[in-house]
Amino acid sequence: MSVMQYPSNLLKPVLDYLKKLEADLLKRKKSIDREDPFADSSRLNDNASDDTEAAEQDGHARAEALSAETKLALAKVRSAMERVDKGEYGKCVKCGQMVDTDRLGIDPTAELCLTCAKAQAGK
Ligand SMILES: [Zn+2]
Repeated sequence: MSVMQYPSNLLKPVLDYLKKLEADLLKRKKSIDREDPFADSSRLNDNASDDTEAAEQDGHARAEALSAETKLALAKVRSAMERVDKGEYGKCVKCGQMVDTDRLGIDPTAELCLTCAKAQAGK
């Protein structure tokens, strides 16, 4: 049996989708960073009340969590794009088996086949 490859006629739309996803995530990250109260350098000079201070702490924590989440999603998208480049897209990064196309249809950045994903989840 020859080495299996993700059908090349399906790679183009996948890559287009990944590029769009990357652009969306970058946009999202920018707006999150902008909303982070700590990103506003003018606050260093203000005499904010304790209430404002607490609200800013909250906003900062939320922005940071969202930003980390977005960064993680970006890394996944970029690693999927890299696999498209290398002709390894659609292969499980752990065992090298083809990832189920249904699975990739739901999450085009999926790195693991169902078996490995289950093993990783400890089930
Ligand atoms: Zn696997």
